[in-house]
Amino acid sequence: NPGKPKYHPVKDACWSKGQKVPYLALAKTLEIIEATSARLKMVEILSNYFRSVIALTPEDLLPSIYLCLNQLAPAYVGLELGIAETYLMKAVGQCTGRSVAQVRAAAQRCGELALAAQQARTTQRTMFAAPPLAVRAVHAALKEVAAMTGHASVNKKIGKIQSLYVACRHSESKFLIRSLEGKLRVGLAEQSLLQALALAVASTPPAGPRAGCLDVAKEMPADEFKSLVEEHAALIKTTYCECPNYELLLPVLLQHGVRALPQHCRLTPGIPLKPMLAHPTKGVHEIFTRFEGERFTCEWKYDGERAQIHVPGDQAPSYSDARIFSRNQENNTSKYPDVLSRLPALLKDSVRNCVLDCESVAYDTVNKKILPFQILSTRKRKDADEAQIKVQVCVFVFDLLLLNGRALVREPLAERRKLLREHFNECPGEWQFAESRDCSTMEEVQQFLEESIKGSCEGLMVKMLHGDNSKYDIARRSHNWLKLKKDYLEGVGDSIDAVVIGAYHGRGKRAGRYGGFLLACYDAEAEQYQSLCKLGTGFSDQDLETLATELDKHLIDGPRNYYSYDASHTADVWFAAARVWELRCADLSLSPAHRAAIGLVDPDKGISLRFPRFIRVREDKTPEEATSAQQIAHMYLSQDQVKNQATKPVNDD
Ligand code: ATP
Repeated sequence: NPGKPKYHPVKDACWSKGQKVPYLALAKTLEIIEATSARLKMVEILSNYFRSVIALTPEDLLPSIYLCLNQLAPAYVGLELGIAETYLMKAVGQCTGRSVAQVRAAAQRCGELALAAQQARTTQRTMFAAPPLAVRAVHAALKEVAAMTGHASVNKKIGKIQSLYVACRHSESKFLIRSLEGKLRVGLAEQSLLQALALAVASTPPAGPRAGCLDVAKEMPADEFKSLVEEHAALIKTTYCECPNYELLLPVLLQHGVRALPQHCRLTPGIPLKPMLAHPTKGVHEIFTRFEGERFTCEWKYDGERAQIHVPGDQAPSYSDARIFSRNQENNTSKYPDVLSRLPALLKDSVRNCVLDCESVAYDTVNKKILPFQILSTRKRKDADEAQIKVQVCVFVFDLLLLNGRALVREPLAERRKLLREHFNECPGEWQFAESRDCSTMEEVQQFLEESIKGSCEGLMVKMLHGDNSKYDIARRSHNWLKLKKDYLEGVGDSIDAVVIGAYHGRGKRAGRYGGFLLACYDAEAEQYQSLCKLGTGFSDQDLETLATELDKHLIDGPRNYYSYDASHTADVWFAAARVWELRCADLSLSPAHRAAIGLVDPDKGISLRFPRFIRVREDKTPEEATSAQQIAHMYLSQDQVKNQATKPVNDD
């Protein structure tokens, strides 16, 4: 077939030293990973690709990593793809001589647009073959597409996408379209990527006398090599936790080797960390069981918004460069000009730079009272003008992660707290330290819990105070922080943050608008949104209207192929996974129709929420940060009635 694009899938995926890495090499790697289910195998396949890149074209390691993670820049920069499906269909249609309707029909036949796009490319005749795509060029082009804004940007974006798409060979188009959609769906978690990087640099050291040597692994005894990989993985993972920026990490790795990482890449004011998170507990009793014999401290759990405050500075704090990041590492600085201008009052003269972990809470300055979260959520989210701010906040500081260039995350909480109180001032109603008490009896905890609720808080955070277990576990949901909310005392424990994936048309009083929604939890392993419940209660009429307007921005033609649900729950309209809602429920039960956590508790049944009700929108969580399938399984299993059943002898009758 003379018109068909010509390429050799193996030869064209190879390259020589110094040459740009062909995009086909990465696409082929991703294709194999997609077809693999064993995590270790995935790590090995990816590490082989990384080894070649490190040995031949190390400067392409960064764009390779970004493309594998579907990221364009450090996560906290917030540069994201996620181009509307219709635009992608338009681009594919214009390049292959089809109408959008034809492309849509093909996407439905194939189950996804990316596959339809690949098929259309492989059967397409072209007059002139476009030059092959290189990894660095694809990454740069995607970055350009994401950065295009404004009215005229749509056509420019479509044009850029077309120029990439016509140059695609083989599975390149599938991964290109998926990247543009904002989801790669090969089942590759970032932790596996870091592991693959460790394995690659252990096998092909990028720095030092054996640089680029491809056969280190073969020469070393297996045990020695295994512990080398483990050491590398631990170093890379901890460094990445403290300094989540590949643009800083990779040059050190490539030039100085893994062991130089802790020295060069450290916790830095300006680079937000993923926060430490807590485990739910269901009562004071459980705290004593978990922390048996250990000393712990209780703090009031304020109901506001997490604020990670970074103040850089060399000889003195540079307040104009201070940043406030959300739980999600989003830059919230422009939301809080009032907090920024109060910063000098918080820092004593001894502070040159710092990173603080805090909760910003709506505050009634006249009556000196904490206000509910709902009030805080009415505050302008971006570019607030200090003079116009109506909802005042008090910031409750509960942790100190860095002081004067010294990272404190590995220090015990008792030490961090001591430094916090020594070097920072409280200013009532503006800056306060989280109310705390080092309790040692159940009565004391119960008493403090009641006080916290009287003080308009959600309950308590109970934290280990001394020793290794009290260090700040970056990015971890740690058992060393327990949350005890007043609502846990009855019911199922924690609330659940679920993703809205569909809606049903309303009837009766709700005719003409949405009457109910389909919500899902996220399974990171399977990269799936699994249906968890239908939701129709907890909304005011006003809520329903605002929520619908918000959701309609995310309407899509049909369910994504990574939505897992039963046909009986087919929604009337579908949404891209974008909005996260907090829900409460009476309990969790096994369900033959819902798919949440399927296979984790029962091989064929999922878990669903009974009597779910809407609580609020979680602006600060991305869909991937919604309650996970594992957490749902855990919540199900820790219900008293399920625990009791499990200990009952099984009756074979
Ligand atoms: P999760 O993912 O655990 O559900 P979440 O964002 O829903 O997290 P919660 O479950 O409500 O939050 O509990 C943890 C949050 O409580 C922290 O992220 C922080 O914003 C808030 N918080 C309030 N007071 C404190 C405190 N004293 N110490 C730590 N966190 C606190």
